[in-house]
Amino acid sequence: MTTSPRKSALYLTRVQLDAELHRCLNCRNSPCMTACPVNCNPQEFIQAALAGRWSDAVKAITRTNPMGQTCGLICPDKFCMQACTRHHVDFAINIPRVQATILDRYREADPCASPVPSSRRIAIIGGGPAGIAAASRLSRHGIRVTLYEARSFLGGALTMIPQERLPRDVIQKDWAFIPHRDLIDLKLQSPVEDPVALCSVYDGVIVATGEPHDIALGIPGESLSISYREYLQEPEKYRTSGAVAVIGGGNVAADCALTARRMGASDVEMFIRRRISDMRISRPEFLALLHEDISLCGMSSPEAISAHGELLGLHVRRNQCVDGQWVPLPNSVIEIPYFSRIIRAIGSRADAKADPVPDNLIYAGDCKTGGSTIVEAIASGLAAADHFLDILS
Ligand SMILES: Cc1cc2nc3c(=O)[nH]c(=O)nc-3n(C[C@H](O)[C@H](O)[C@H](O)COP(=O)(O)OP(=O)(O)OC[C@H]3O[C@@H](n4cnc5c(N)ncnc54)[C@H](O)[C@@H]3O)c2cc1C
Ligand code: SF4
Repeated sequence: MTTSPRKSALYLTRVQLDAELHRCLNCRNSPCMTACPVNCNPQEFIQAALAGRWSDAVKAITRTNPMGQTCGLICPDKFCMQACTRHHVDFAINIPRVQATILDRYREADPCASPVPSSRRIAIIGGGPAGIAAASRLSRHGIRVTLYEARSFLGGALTMIPQERLPRDVIQKDWAFIPHRDLIDLKLQSPVEDPVALCSVYDGVIVATGEPHDIALGIPGESLSISYREYLQEPEKYRTSGAVAVIGGGNVAADCALTARRMGASDVEMFIRRRISDMRISRPEFLALLHEDISLCGMSSPEAISAHGELLGLHVRRNQCVDGQWVPLPNSVIEIPYFSRIIRAIGSRADAKADPVPDNLIYAGDCKTGGSTIVEAIASGLAAADHFLDILS
């Protein structure tokens, strides 16, 4: 079991919340809203909260974001926070944490009026943020939805995020607060083999299956390593007190490295193809890697993996940048022979798309756009729902 996070580490205290709310400049042109992929209006919920109108604050969040609490805990700082005017005064308001804290503390069931039920039915394949968002918006408009999820729980890729950053019950809580869930027929453990076959049964089909396939390294000995998916789904199973290598330099690789460290690995080394400054991670994630003493080995790529009894050897070559291209540095391969685990975290890919795509089938979330963020997946799911609301009304 991974340790439960301290609640105070995830949410703002009353004093911190009050301080953040009072820092809002109530900007005339709402740059924070413009920057949000789901068009959530932080200015509106902050001003409502400042006036003590907590239920209005909650409504302002949940009106546009059906996974507002989850989003508030993990949304990167490149959207509303980057646009926040306060940034130019001292530092941006921690809008995502304000949002998560308001929902955690003040959310109550919303007694919103029942929509007029429609005879239209939409199938959604995939119970990650894109599928949940699409289901939420359609059911709000009275459309009956069947939500097919391959696994026995909702959340998709979010369920691989370490509990220290995102406790699982937060995803469940967002789901539980979705209004008119009686219009959503949730079918867990129901993988859909052929989405196109559903097109003749439903008025519309939204495919939101994420990127369920790992990208392979394509090197000798690869089968001796494990994928980030195997690792993050069951970190306990792969627990080791030995040394761990993580191949990759994105936020998923960072989660693997931090998890390995928290699970007791003696040394954790990340191997990154490009420069350390090219890593696609947020500043807090980078600081967490430094804080946990994770070794960052930039400009290095794996060439092979070999077994040495109980240990694994990682053969690594150095890279160099020539004319803007990353190419191998000749004669630079060395073997690092002491790893107990080697984790691959270099990305994933979606299922092949239907060809041709039927008129009443659309894609949403990461399977449409490639690996993104929770808020972009939610925006994509909402847009898919709006597409059907437009053509079915
Ligand atoms: C380790 C990790 C850390 C991350 N950290 C962050 C972060 O800090 N901040 C952030 O914004 N984003 C983060 N992300 C990215 C974020 O989780 C994704 O962008 C988002 O979950 C994509 O949503 P989605 O609904 O498109 O797909 P997914 O979340 O992948 O959901 C797809 C769902 O479809 C189901 N499915 C697949 N095939 C079928 C089928 N044939 N039939 C039925 N169901 C099917 C899957 O089981 C899954 O539940 C992280 C991702 C990972 C893996
Ligand atoms: S940009 Fe920042 S300071 Fe301005 S209204 Fe939005 S949250 Fe407040």
